[in-house]
Amino acid sequence: MYQHQTQQNQTLDLPLGKVVCVGRNYAEHAKELGNEIPDAPILFIKPATSVVSLENGFAIPQDQGSVHHEAEIAVLVCKEAKSISADTAWQYISHASVALDLTLRDVQSKLKEKSHPWEIAKGFDGACPLGKWLPISALSNKEHIAIELFKNGEQKQSGNSTQMITSIPHLIAYMSTIFTLQPGDVILTGTPAGVGPLESGDQLKAVLDKQFNFTSQVL
Ligand code: ZN
Repeated sequence: MYQHQTQQNQTLDLPLGKVVCVGRNYAEHAKELGNEIPDAPILFIKPATSVVSLENGFAIPQDQGSVHHEAEIAVLVCKEAKSISADTAWQYISHASVALDLTLRDVQSKLKEKSHPWEIAKGFDGACPLGKWLPISALSNKEHIAIELFKNGEQKQSGNSTQMITSIPHLIAYMSTIFTLQPGDVILTGTPAGVGPLESGDQLKAVLDKQFNFTSQVL
């Protein structure tokens, strides 16, 4: 069963809660899927049951069309946050990592055509492989976080939190006006361009802040 752990394999004394996510937070990614840039962040939730450990390798659904990787900067909530301001938002966050917002892209496209919610395309069991955590203080600059994803040795995604339409502190503040954020909740901050399909056997490496490597594979 998944538990929050540090990169040193220490278990953090925080329960696993909900995963609050944002769609289309990088303009280049919105464009690649032919979506308009939203006026306000598009939020959705992945349940705790969707989380699995990234580093152990993960399985993907085999019979529901394409499963896309969306590599995202993840942050961990350490204190209850309700209607907080962006100025104070970092005080509620203790750690950062990488997550894959796995998406059943064919299923999602059909749901979007019908204007239905995306939950079954993004909230299924195993839909959120999540890396081990590093303290925010380990990042070279928390306002300038690079994220990259390599598949079978080839770079597929590369972005930086400075390219986000809504910055991490503003995103946390906005989320906290709708959902009370509780200790152990996880926030995914959107994916840069370059999303694409995964297949069993793919070898993955995500790199956070140009220095922290997360390796995984599709089982
Ligand atoms: Zn995403």
